[in-house]
Amino acid sequence: MSLKVDHARCTQCRMCYIVCRELDINAVYVALDPLHRIEIDLNACTYPGCTACLMYCPAEGSIVEAATGRSVVPPPPDAWQAG
Ligand code: SF4
Ligand code: SF4
Repeated sequence: MSLKVDHARCTQCRMCYIVCRELDINAVYVALDPLHRIEIDLNACTYPGCTACLMYCPAEGSIVEAATGRSVVPPPPDAWQAG
């Protein structure tokens, strides 16, 4: 199992890259083609054992399960507050 980036939603903020590096897993990398696009190495990501980047990604829906395409980035907190 692995996560992947939905590039239609990702803002390229690189938070997932930093988090994964801090854990010394280094599954997130900056691609050369297309240049500087954030990608997740499907063979290195340890999801669902690790879910760290999901808690830091600010862009709803931009990290998805590679196998299912299911969005696993929760919506921002204000989405849960009654309007
Ligand atoms: S789930 Fe963990 S291992 Fe996978 S990309 Fe996110 S931080 Fe890295
Ligand atoms: S943390 Fe989310 S928005 Fe930022 S680069 Fe990673 S996938 Fe894209």
